[in-house]
Amino acid sequence: MKNLNETHNPELTSWVSSANDQSDFPIQNLPFAIFRRKSNLKQNQGPEKFRAGVAIGDSIVDLKAAHKAGVFSMALTPMLKTLYKPRLNSFMALGEAAWSTLRGELSRALASDSSLRAQLETCLVSQSEAEYKVPARIGDFTDFYTSINHATNVGKLFRPDNPLLPNYQWIPIGYHGRSSSIEISGHAFHRPKGQLKAPDVDAPVLAPCKRLDYELEVGIYIGSGNTLGHPIELDQAEDHVFGLCLFNDWSARDIQAWEYQPLGPFLSKSFASTVSPWIVTMEALAPYRQAWTRDADHPQPLPYLNSHNNRNTGAVDMHLEVSIQTAKMRSDGIAPERVALSNFNQSYWSISQMVAHHTVNGCNLKPGDFFGSGTQSGTTPESVGALLEATTGGKHPITLSNGEQRTFLEDGDTVVLGGWCESETAPRIGFGKASATVLSAL
Ligand code: CA
Repeated sequence: MKNLNETHNPELTSWVSSANDQSDFPIQNLPFAIFRRKSNLKQNQGPEKFRAGVAIGDSIVDLKAAHKAGVFSMALTPMLKTLYKPRLNSFMALGEAAWSTLRGELSRALASDSSLRAQLETCLVSQSEAEYKVPARIGDFTDFYTSINHATNVGKLFRPDNPLLPNYQWIPIGYHGRSSSIEISGHAFHRPKGQLKAPDVDAPVLAPCKRLDYELEVGIYIGSGNTLGHPIELDQAEDHVFGLCLFNDWSARDIQAWEYQPLGPFLSKSFASTVSPWIVTMEALAPYRQAWTRDADHPQPLPYLNSHNNRNTGAVDMHLEVSIQTAKMRSDGIAPERVALSNFNQSYWSISQMVAHHTVNGCNLKPGDFFGSGTQSGTTPESVGALLEATTGGKHPITLSNGEQRTFLEDGDTVVLGGWCESETAPRIGFGKASATVLSAL
C-alpha cells in the first residue's frame, strides 16, 4: 500500500469549486483518462487529438496544455511528453515514483492556495464537452473470479452437486480474455448470437442469446511490467499496478453453459466489455485500504500468496453498484434504478495476490495489461453482481419500480456501474460511471 501524504489531506480544497461539492472528483482523487473535446460543428470545431487528462470536479485538466502553460517543474518534461499520446501506456511504464511526483505537483497546483491558478485555469476542459477512449492499449486481458460468493452462487446453478471446485480456495482462478472488444463507457452493442442448447434437446442451434447478463467487476490496470521469467513478489505487486476502474464484463449465460467445459468461457464473454473512462490510482486509494482476511476454517494461502502487508492492507473498501434503465424508463424520463450494491472488500483474493499468482510461472505483464476482478457479489440478495444470481438462473425475475420485470437483459436496456470510496477520515472519491446499452441482434 502507498503511504499517506499531503495529497490525501482531507482538509484540502481546490480553486475549482465544483471539486469541493460532493463530486466524484475532489482534489484527493485526481484520476487519469484519455479525452478530447467533442466535435462542435456549430463552432466549426473538428475532432481534436485524444490526450491525457486528470479529473477535478466537473472539469478535466488538459495535461499537455498545462505543461505548455508552464505549470509543472522542468524536470517533469520527459514524463509529461508521454501524456501527449492518445494512450497512457508510456506513462504507465514509467512506474510509481513518476506517477506520484505528477500527482504531488498537480495537487499543489489545484489547491485553493495555489499561485498557479491563473495559468492552470486556461487548461481546464468541461467534462460535459468531452469524449473518452479506452485509456490504455490493452495488450492482454485476464479475467479473474475472486468473489467466493459469486463463485458459489454460479457453481450451484451450473453444477448443483459440486458448486465450489476444490482449487478455488487455493488459486486466484482466472482465464485469458479478449481485449479487442473492451470499449469505453457510453457505447452500445448488439446482442450476440451463438450456439444455444436447451437441456432437453440433442443438438444446439445458432440463435441470439436469450440470457444476456452484466457482471459488476473492478478493472485493474498494470503499470510497470516484469521481465519474462521473473515473477513479481507479493509485497512488490502493487508497485506494478497503476490503478482501478469500473468494469462490466457482459456475459451470455446460455452460450456460456454450453461451451464452458472443458476449457472455460470463450464466445460467451468476448463480444463486449465496458470500462469507465477514469483510472483511480493506487496512491489515491491509500486511505481506503482494509485488512485482507481469510476465515480460519478455510485453507490459508501458500507462502507466495501470503504476507503481513497483504493481510494488513490488502483489501480495498470500494463500494460498487449496478443500475438499470430500460427503454421504457428512458422514454418516460425515469433515471437508472439501482439493482445491486456490493463492495470490493469482500474479494476472496487481493490485487497483490492476483499479480503474484499471474506471474509466479514467469509470465510477463506489460504496461496497460488489464485484469477483471470477477463479479463482486456480497452475501445478500441485494448485493449480487449479476442477474444470473439475482434471479437464480432466470427462475425468479426482479421487479423494477415501474413494474417492469427482468430475468435477463432485454434490447434497449442500459446498465450503469458506479463505484466510490469513503471513510470517516477521508473524503468520498468516485470512479464515474461505466454505462452501455444493449441493441437487438444483427
Ligand atoms: Ca467476468
